[in-house]
Amino acid sequence: MAVKDTFIGKSLDKSLLWRLLREGMGGLLHLYIPAIISMFVVGASSAMTAFSMEMIVNAMTGASRSYVLGVGALVLGVFVVKGVSMYVQMVTLARAGNRIVASQQMRLYRKLLAQGIAFYNTHETSDLLTRISNGANAARTVINTIVTSFARDLITLIGLLVVMFYQQPQLSLFSLIMVPAIFFGLRVLLVKVRDIMHKEYSSLAEIIKVIQETSMGIRVIKIFGLEDRLEARMQRAVNAVEKRSNAINRLEAITMPLMEIVTGLIISAVVVISGTRMLGGATASPGQLMSFVTALIMAYEPAKRLSRMRVSIESSMIGVKMLFQLIDAPITMVDRDTARPITVRDGAIELENVSFHYKSGTPTLNDLSISIPARNTIALVGASGGGKSTIMNLLMRFYDVTGGAIRIDGTDVRDATLESLRGAISYVGQETFLFSNSILENIRASRPQSSDDEVIAAAKVAHAHDFISEMPQGYQTPVGENGQFLSGGQRQRLSIARAVLKGAPILLLDEATSALDATSERLIKEALAEITRDVTTVIIAHRLSTVMQADRIFVLEAGRVVQQGAPSDLVEAPGAFRDLYLQQFAAPGGPDRDSEPAAAAAAEGAAPADWTRLAGHG
Ligand code: ADP
Repeated sequence: MAVKDTFIGKSLDKSLLWRLLREGMGGLLHLYIPAIISMFVVGASSAMTAFSMEMIVNAMTGASRSYVLGVGALVLGVFVVKGVSMYVQMVTLARAGNRIVASQQMRLYRKLLAQGIAFYNTHETSDLLTRISNGANAARTVINTIVTSFARDLITLIGLLVVMFYQQPQLSLFSLIMVPAIFFGLRVLLVKVRDIMHKEYSSLAEIIKVIQETSMGIRVIKIFGLEDRLEARMQRAVNAVEKRSNAINRLEAITMPLMEIVTGLIISAVVVISGTRMLGGATASPGQLMSFVTALIMAYEPAKRLSRMRVSIESSMIGVKMLFQLIDAPITMVDRDTARPITVRDGAIELENVSFHYKSGTPTLNDLSISIPARNTIALVGASGGGKSTIMNLLMRFYDVTGGAIRIDGTDVRDATLESLRGAISYVGQETFLFSNSILENIRASRPQSSDDEVIAAAKVAHAHDFISEMPQGYQTPVGENGQFLSGGQRQRLSIARAVLKGAPILLLDEATSALDATSERLIKEALAEITRDVTTVIIAHRLSTVMQADRIFVLEAGRVVQQGAPSDLVEAPGAFRDLYLQQFAAPGGPDRDSEPAAAAAAEGAAPADWTRLAGHG
C-alpha cells in the first residue's frame, strides 16, 4: 500500500508545517485577521478577569459605594467584551476552516483529473479516497490548532503570567519550576502518537477498499459465497482502526492526570506557602493573593492546551503529509511547450518503429510498424497480452512511445496538444462507463453543446433509439449507478451513440469479449458498419464478423506484428491467423477444414469467437 512509505521522520516536519500555513491560510487572511484579533481580546479579557480579583476582594471588604459600582461595571464590561470576541473568533475560525477543507479538496481533485493514466496504475482508489477525505480535514485541524494555540492560548497565558508576577513574583517563580517536568513527559507521547496515526491511516484505506470491492464484485461474492471471508477482512480492518483510535485517545488522555496532579501540587503548595508566610508573602493583601491564585487557576486551561498542541498537530500531520504527496505528484502526461492543436482532416495513422514498455526492462511493443490509410478500418487480433490495448493507449496518448513515433496526418502525436488530439478520437471500450444521470445526458457527454435532437439522431444511428424509447421515461430515464439497469448490449449501443455524436475522424473500438444477445449483436454490427464507413477505425476484434469486415488485419504476438493482410488473403495463407481461424472452426458443428471458412463466417455473421482466448497458438 502506498501509505506505507509516507511516514518518515522522527520530529515534526517544520517545513511541511510552514508550507501548510502558507498555502492553507493564503487568501484567507480576511478571516484569520479578525479571528486572531478577537483571540487577542479573549486573552486580554481573561487576564483582566484575574487582575480584577484584587479589586473585587477590596470591594467586598469595605470600600466606598462608587468603588464598588465601578468594580461591578468593570467586571461586567470585561465579560461582555470576552463573550462577544469569543463569538467572532468561533465564527471566523470555523468559516476559515471550512474554506480550507473545500479548497484543498478541489485542489486535489483538479490534480487527480490532470493526472495521466500511469498515475492510476500505481494509486489505488481507496488510497485516493482516504487522502482526499482525511487529508483536507487534517489540514484544517492543524491550521486551526496552531492559530488557536498561538493567538488565544499563548496570549491568555502570557496575560495571566503578567498578572501572577505583578501580584506575587516569588510565588510565580515557584510555580514555573514545575513546568519543564510536564513538557518532558509530553515529548515521550509524541513519538508514539505519530506511529499509531500512520497505522490508522492504512487501516482506514483498507476499510474503504473492502467496501469498494464489495460493491463492485457483489455478484462474484454472492455466487462464490465469499461473504464470510469479506466479513472477516472487514472485521480485521475495523478492529485495527478501533484499537488505534483507543490508543490515540489513551495517549491524549494521559496528559489530563499529568496536568491535574501538577496543577494541584502547585496550587496547594502556593496556599501552604502563602498561608504560613514562608516566603515573605506577609506583605500581600488578601486581594492580591486572590488575584494571583485566580490567574494561576485560569492559566491551567490554556497551558494544558498549549502542552497538548504538539500531540494534536502530530496526529493530523500524517494526513497533511499524504495530502501534499498527492498534490505534489508530478503530472507525467502534459503538452509539450511547442505543442499545437492538431486538425485531423483525413485521419491517416502511421505507427513507425514503435517501441513501448510500461516497466523498463519488459518491452510491451517491439519495433512495431502499422500504416492505416485515411478512412480505412483495420482489425488488431491475437492472443491476450499481445499489445492490442497498448496500441490504443498510445494512439490516445495515455502514454508516450519509448521509441519510434506515432503520426496522424503526418503530425507526431507528441507535437499535438492533448486536448485537440483526444478531440479527434472517439473511443468505444469494452466497458461502457455511464455516469449516474439520464440516458440523454450520458450520450451528450461526448459533445456537451449538442441539442436533444442531435443526441436522438446519434442514438438512431447507434440503433439505440428503439430500446430507449421503450423505457418508461424515454431519454430521461436514469441509468442507475454505472448503468446497472441496462443490458451489456444496450450499454454498448449507448457508447456507440456517444461516439457517433462526437463525430471524430478517428474511431477506436475495443470490441466486447462477452457474448451479446443475438439482437444486440446484429444491431451493433449494423451500427458499426455505418459509422466506420467514413472514419479511420482501429478495432480490437474478438468476433469473426468484425475481422472479416476490416480492410486489413494485423495479427499481434508479444508486441510484434507477426502477420498482416486483407482478411481474404490471410484466411488462405498459412500462418498465425489461419491457425486461429481454424481453431475456431474446428469446433464441433463448425465447417471442416476443407470447406470455405471465410465465406461461411461472413455469411453466418459469425458466431461469437474470441480470439484473445485462443492462447498457445503459433
Ligand atoms: P492485449 O490488449 O493484446 O491483451 P495489452 O496491450 O493489454 O494486450 O498488454 C500487453 C502487455 O502489457 C501485457 O503483458 C500486459 O500484462 C502488459 N500491460 C498492460 N497494461 C499494463 C500496465 N498498465 N502496466 C504494466 N503492464 C501492462
